[in-house]
Amino acid sequence: MASEPVFVEHPSSLDHDTGRHPERAARIVAIDDELQRRGWLGYRRIESPQVSRQTLEAVHPADYVAGVERAAAAGGGALDPDTVISEGSFLAALHAAGGAVAMVESLVQGGAGARGFSSHRPPGHHALAARAMGFCLFNNVAVAARHALDRLELSRVIVLDWDVHHGNGTNDIFSAEPRVLFVSIHQWPLYPGTGAPTDVGTGAGSGYTVNLPVPPGSGDLEFTALVDGVFVPLARSYAPELVLVSAGFDAHVDDPLAGCNVTEAGYATMATAVSEICDELGIGLGCVLEGGYDLGALARSVAVTMEAIAGVPASVPVPASVSPERAGSADRLVAQARDRLAAFWPALV
Ligand SMILES: [Zn+2]
Repeated sequence: MASEPVFVEHPSSLDHDTGRHPERAARIVAIDDELQRRGWLGYRRIESPQVSRQTLEAVHPADYVAGVERAAAAGGGALDPDTVISEGSFLAALHAAGGAVAMVESLVQGGAGARGFSSHRPPGHHALAARAMGFCLFNNVAVAARHALDRLELSRVIVLDWDVHHGNGTNDIFSAEPRVLFVSIHQWPLYPGTGAPTDVGTGAGSGYTVNLPVPPGSGDLEFTALVDGVFVPLARSYAPELVLVSAGFDAHVDDPLAGCNVTEAGYATMATAVSEICDELGIGLGCVLEGGYDLGALARSVAVTMEAIAGVPASVPVPASVSPERAGSADRLVAQARDRLAAFWPALV
């Protein structure tokens, strides 16, 4: 194992006050309490810096950033029907993006075996370059991936988004960018309505956007089958120099905002598979917190994901066995995805 894994956070995440809202400060408190109980799982805790304006503005136009800053300074309010901010939100968002960037710097420096988890709010994957939406102000994972390309001179980064909602912001920001392979597993139909399998990217980025929608009711079986059967061979074929996970935990069976049935065991299984392919490729792996709105499910799922990527012995039970019909439908999801992708990724045939 390389350097010890890093857990990146900042107290300003608690000052992004959304009022009565599922994306609330108690999420961070629940995660920290769970990790405290587990001795932080051997992670070294780092306080995140603010992102520099230059790094942030490589993704988000300066006038958009200034608009968010002004809205927060004026006391906050609703930036869109779902996205509420307070006076403390701008600083929280600067640290959320800065934490993801700091984690990426640590991972790239650490090389093979490096692992990290960036735990902040607001989340990021719905934020478009010039528009806040879906509880997100700045696209933390996109800012970090862009930094890896522009400043750390990486030429291939994968962003795997297993949040139950499609990461439309990340998809859009990197649509024409072949140096970022964006892979999203999400419930469909569901907010925000994007992420159809036919969206494969644009121009030079064609084939480097991989949307893997799953029907409501999908659980450990479907999510892990797509990671094992699609993500892992894609990663082997693309040979990234870094893998980032947009790690939302709202596909959990207990989550109130969606209709999927993933359990802690499913997250541990996915995280283990992603970690193993990163080991095979000799590269770093970092998670950036996105959604997850049942406090207990969120905290336990973060913990098992951190265990799995850091090679800590797993604390979750093996998933229950499934019916042949369920197994058959998961196999079909994988086969259909591989068929669709064959034109771009011959290795998947
Ligand atoms: Zn979500």
